Amino acid sequence: MTELTNLTIHETLRKLRAREVSPIEVTEAYIKKIEENNSKYNAYVTTSFDKALDGAKESEKRYINGTNKSLDGIAIGVKDLFCTKDIRTTACSHIIDNFVPKYESNVTQNLLNDGALFLGKLNLDEFAMGGSNETSCFGPVVNPWSKDVKLVAGGSSGGSAAAVSANLCAGSTGTDTGGSIRQPAAFCGVTGIKPTYGRCSRYGVIAFASSLDQAGPICKDVTDCALMLNSMAGYDNRDATSSNVSVPDFTSFIGQDIRGLKVGIPDEYRIEGMNEEIAQYWNKATKMLEERGAEIVRISLPHTKYALPSYYVIAPAEASSNLARYDGIRYGNRVDGNNMEELYINTRTQGFGKEVKRRILIGTYVLSAGFYDAYYLKAQKVRRLIKNDFDEAFKKCDVILTPTTPVEAFAIGDKTMSENPINMYLNDVYTVSVNLAGLPAMSLPIGLSKNGLPLGMQLIGKAFDEATIFKTAYQLERDVNFKRI
Ligand code: GLN
Repeated sequence: MTELTNLTIHETLRKLRAREVSPIEVTEAYIKKIEENNSKYNAYVTTSFDKALDGAKESEKRYINGTNKSLDGIAIGVKDLFCTKDIRTTACSHIIDNFVPKYESNVTQNLLNDGALFLGKLNLDEFAMGGSNETSCFGPVVNPWSKDVKLVAGGSSGGSAAAVSANLCAGSTGTDTGGSIRQPAAFCGVTGIKPTYGRCSRYGVIAFASSLDQAGPICKDVTDCALMLNSMAGYDNRDATSSNVSVPDFTSFIGQDIRGLKVGIPDEYRIEGMNEEIAQYWNKATKMLEERGAEIVRISLPHTKYALPSYYVIAPAEASSNLARYDGIRYGNRVDGNNMEELYINTRTQGFGKEVKRRILIGTYVLSAGFYDAYYLKAQKVRRLIKNDFDEAFKKCDVILTPTTPVEAFAIGDKTMSENPINMYLNDVYTVSVNLAGLPAMSLPIGLSKNGLPLGMQLIGKAFDEATIFKTAYQLERDVNFKRI
């Protein structure tokens, strides 16, 4: 018999609704799995099993009296960037490693309202800054696909992707500022969607770069992502950038055919240094969509080469401003000094890790008088050109297909990455443009590399058109038939 923890959310819901299993049984199965396996992967940094079991008991009652909700009894993991009431929330930074919020983020509250249960909080790069989960103050996450060498799970939502991949939760929440849902999903052989900016409320999500941050689900398949996004999305007046647009039932696009759909392939994404197998899978995915009746069109996104440099100006700029509050006076663990200045210095020196400090320095520099116009303002202008590229491209196509990453998961501690941060930043080449333009994009597994590691494909949609992504991704998923762990 298949283990309960191997099932997708939709399969589990079917069993729960048929009363073949109870929410308590399912939750207990996940708890056991986490207890036995978490030390291998370091995915959870805090567990909340008692709360999960209490929730399961409530779910059980609703199944018995027929008032069960859309995600009743589904046990999920939450990226430790979402504030969860009475559950420690750390952003994986020492500066707030004992913070227990008194309130719930909008996204996690939506999930609770729909009957989901939280098994615990998942590891991430410190304040979501990174692409390998190695900047976490709790140490790196180990990719469940690792063989003899321990590989990174990707980042920043490394814990969220690894936990889903290793069946330590049914689905998880992630956040994506420049690829943090899609890149770890690709590295761990799971599916994740970054919705349109404004689709999910940022209320209660610890801020990294506010104009780019967006929450989304990481799941075992496309249908599960639709189910979770249905719950997570929606207008919230506590986030001024939350969009007051209606949320369709994303599951209604699952199974729709894609005949006549125009799929764009951007010329500029065939970059030097791209892994040859990824190029081959990209062609294969293109053919699969064509065979399902889609029309393939060549498109151009001419400013692609400026996306990384502008992202790595804008994101640190916003981060330096957002992280100013952790000074030991207003927020953050205080480290005393002989005077006010020393207190600030000691607090921030000890509280923040190396990558976060690097971003604060870059961000402060590009925002400072004399450099603001040359860097920050310039980057914002480039951002507009990147958005214009997508607007032009979407006159010719309905959805864009690209690889998610130029490489597969690399070893933890890989020197080429850790000694030169630029190499790490280059991994984000396919993902950051989407955040700069505010668009929705999904990563789904396309197959294994010759080293037996998962590779991902990315589908980018028009603003608020996650629907087309879901219907295209589902058809691709059927043809790929990827074997999960
Ligand atoms: N890897 C990117 C960065 O380091 C993206 C991170 C994210 O999306 N949170 O900024």
